[in-house]
Amino acid sequence: MGDCVSRFGKKSAVELAMVGLDGSGKTTILYNLKKKDFWNVKRTVGYNLENIRVRNKTFNLWDIGGVKNIRPLWRYHFIGKHGVIFVIDSSDVRRLDEAITELWNITKDPVAKNVRILVLANKQDKSGAIKPDDIKEKLTKENTFKNIEWEVMPASALAGHGLKKALLWFRPQT
Ligand code: GDP
Repeated sequence: MGDCVSRFGKKSAVELAMVGLDGSGKTTILYNLKKKDFWNVKRTVGYNLENIRVRNKTFNLWDIGGVKNIRPLWRYHFIGKHGVIFVIDSSDVRRLDEAITELWNITKDPVAKNVRILVLANKQDKSGAIKPDDIKEKLTKENTFKNIEWEVMPASALAGHGLKKALLWFRPQT
């Protein structure tokens, strides 16, 4: 983590990889932050990259496809990144365990050793969405993150709620 912070530098961009199951809302998040047309979002096969400026800081946000057969490739995108945003579709209770298993795989992977992980509990606007506190409690109980700095935050990508705050969580403390 110390290395990670010192690598930020004052002018350099914060490099973030955004992963999560397909359909969790990653591309919608990216395009909402970039104010692009996100009403016609198509499935991401490889990755989308945008640089986003928030409070005088540039964030390079890599939206990486989440379809099952390409998930083993996520790890290559963690190299050289300061952090990972793991997006969860909070309204999809059925796939919560699948999402958490993928999160587990990341936390156990040595390539993600020095990255901070933000779990973004997306689709909070939908009725029945699991609350971030409940996700946090589950992850804490299961001891998912050992020696990793992490947090859970709410978001609604369609409305744009919680997105900038999520990026700012990675901003280096100066
Ligand atoms: P990705 O596969 O993770 O990139 O997911 P997409 O960005 O393609 O989103 C999948 C679907 O979820 C799309 O129909 C989006 O409009 C919808 N979606 C994404 N974020 C939200 C959200 O915060 N609230 C609601 N209600 N729908 C969302």
